[in-house]
Amino acid sequence: RDGPLHRYRIIKELGKGGMGRVYKAVDSRLKRKVALKMLHPELNHEPKVLLFFKREVQSIASLNHSNIVQLYDAGMEKGCFYMVMEYVKGATLDRLALRQPDNLLRSMVAIWHQACQGLKFAHDNGIIHRDIKPTNIMVNKSRTVKILDFGLAKQVSDTNQTQQLWGTPTFMAPELFLGDRASFQTDIYSMGATFYVLATGEEPFDKGNASAKFAGHGLPEPPHSKNPKVPEALSDTILKCFHLDPNNRYKSVDELIARLRSIGPR
Ligand code: ATP
Ligand code: MG
Ligand code: MG
Repeated sequence: RDGPLHRYRIIKELGKGGMGRVYKAVDSRLKRKVALKMLHPELNHEPKVLLFFKREVQSIASLNHSNIVQLYDAGMEKGCFYMVMEYVKGATLDRLALRQPDNLLRSMVAIWHQACQGLKFAHDNGIIHRDIKPTNIMVNKSRTVKILDFGLAKQVSDTNQTQQLWGTPTFMAPELFLGDRASFQTDIYSMGATFYVLATGEEPFDKGNASAKFAGHGLPEPPHSKNPKVPEALSDTILKCFHLDPNNRYKSVDELIARLRSIGPR
């Protein structure tokens, strides 16, 4: 079926979020598969939504890295804002976890390492992702990790305050609930929470208990106590990302990468 865009023929829906839908499509001009993200036309006049969409386009456009999804094209046609990305054939981390938990555990350090390389590149370019979570990270057929969905991304230098809680509570750093600004350390928290869920198959905190995130030093039950197959070194690495005080987490993605290097992959 024809979508609203001449050049891109929609094959199927890949996912939907609050602001739009993502489709697998074919670029009829270059004869290749692409991922087409389109904004809901009802949101065309929502300044905030347009701001986030514009930031997403600008962020991915400025980040040319093998662990970050590539942008091919973006625009507005027939009343529809769209962006065209590299089509990633593979699975988001949440689906990978469900499929083969044991196998995943072995390759988890390798996957995390690659995800951190992508995040490091964003951070080095002054961009905070702000929505790191399992559904926003994919692994393709050749085991290359791709960070997606820069829909909440922001330049760290951007003084424009849009301080709303848009992210997913499970993966959001506690300071954001207190109205603090996102920082590079808030992305590190989200990476820790992402790999906590991957390693244990469980949420770090009871969802119904909002204050659990703030208890003690913010540390959940250690991953290796929930899943004995998690090596203690990996368990400790995950836990360090959870500290209530952002200064007690890894200082930078570089530091997290160095730590991951020292414990694996094996
Ligand atoms: P939300 O904000 O609710 O997380 P979203 O509307 O911002 O979602 P994305 O996260 O960018 O949309 O994409 C939604 C889903 O579509 C992803 O979780 C993934 O499964 C799929 N998807 C997105 N981009 C691609 C891509 N380039 N290649 C393959 N699949 C993709
Ligand atoms: Mg998403
Ligand atoms: Mg999004």
